Amino acid sequence: MATHQGEPHRALPALTSAGILTIDLSAIQANWRSIKARLAAHVSAGAVIKADAYGLGAAHVGPALYRAGCREFFVASLVEAREARSYLPNDARIIVLGGAQSGEEGEFIERDLTPVLFSLPALDRWRQACRAAGGPHPSALKIDTGMHRLGLTPAEVDQLLLEPAYLQECGIGLVMSHLACADEPEHPLNQEQLHRFEATADRLRVHLPDVRLSLANSSGVFLGPQWHFDLVRTGAFLYGFHPQPLLADTLPTDLVQPVLQLDLPVRQVREVSHGGTVGYGADARIEPKTRLAVVAGGYADGLNRLLGRQAVGIVGEYSTRVIGRISMDLTIFDISELPAHEAPAWIQVLNRELTVNHLTQSSGALGYEVLTSLGRRYQRRYLGGESG
Ligand SMILES: *Cc1c(COP(=O)(O)O)cnc(C)c1O
Repeated sequence: MATHQGEPHRALPALTSAGILTIDLSAIQANWRSIKARLAAHVSAGAVIKADAYGLGAAHVGPALYRAGCREFFVASLVEAREARSYLPNDARIIVLGGAQSGEEGEFIERDLTPVLFSLPALDRWRQACRAAGGPHPSALKIDTGMHRLGLTPAEVDQLLLEPAYLQECGIGLVMSHLACADEPEHPLNQEQLHRFEATADRLRVHLPDVRLSLANSSGVFLGPQWHFDLVRTGAFLYGFHPQPLLADTLPTDLVQPVLQLDLPVRQVREVSHGGTVGYGADARIEPKTRLAVVAGGYADGLNRLLGRQAVGIVGEYSTRVIGRISMDLTIFDISELPAHEAPAWIQVLNRELTVNHLTQSSGALGYEVLTSLGRRYQRRYLGGESG
């Protein structure tokens, strides 16, 4: 039914899991500064805030990074870019990795969004839109250097260079490519991609003397300064996980600060006096007198991904373990180690010591998957994130 008083019936996601996800915006800012400090003065540190800043809340994370000094933001789509325009100041550059879909070009120009152009038809449409708008508008050109995901092929670059005026007409201010194996520093493809990128960039630069170049994501930054060019595009590192779990131990520990804390409320503490089995499938056996804590939060909240096989929960100074299968909304911990009189109200599954890096090292999941699987049902608390 129509009403003149806003949208009273808009469905808000129910916070049924009631776990509390705490996101430390000051730590995200510190991680951005840590990246920036590793770059030469002319190199910019761009922030990748696609997928709602890897699930952490782009409307909070983006402005905090802006206050830290970041001015270039990467999102995946026009929908994400519209949102970013609403929470970022006007001088923030918003670069859309998924490009402008056919028909979206006008809105890109209107909202001053920078599309990543990765096909000849997309370039054609962008040139038409620029002509219609009376002149070039900033765009980025993506070339494929070996990942074979998005980007112009070498043959398409050749074709483009037959008509170099095209490049200026499209307002190309950035040439970029993406590394396939940056998290494996010894992989030969890193060098190959670097050489192909440099060679193609040199050819384009003849016609675009001021164009900037960008190749590295978070892991790419650690391959070395040759990979930095003018702009790096970091996501993972900002959000407190190291994309190279195997190398994490060789880098200074204060390089990347943990960002997350996750507390799950205990719904029931029980003692199973006769022993038996726990949970779906009855595949976890317990001894008589085992004490269990059943917490709100399950695989619908990303806990399978998060906990992996390690499945640890912290109660004060005690470390407990998940027992039985994690179900959709509930997870069971064996708390027999705790003193008998203790009935914990909360179990912590992420904190400054139990980090996403630790969990991924033991479970084999990727930090990327863990964060983006966190689910929408936690109450979110944001800490810090002010200027300065
Ligand atoms: C997601 C993405 C990044 C960020 O990668 P991280 O490993 O999270 O730093 C950079 N560039 C492109 C093209 C991406 O899609």
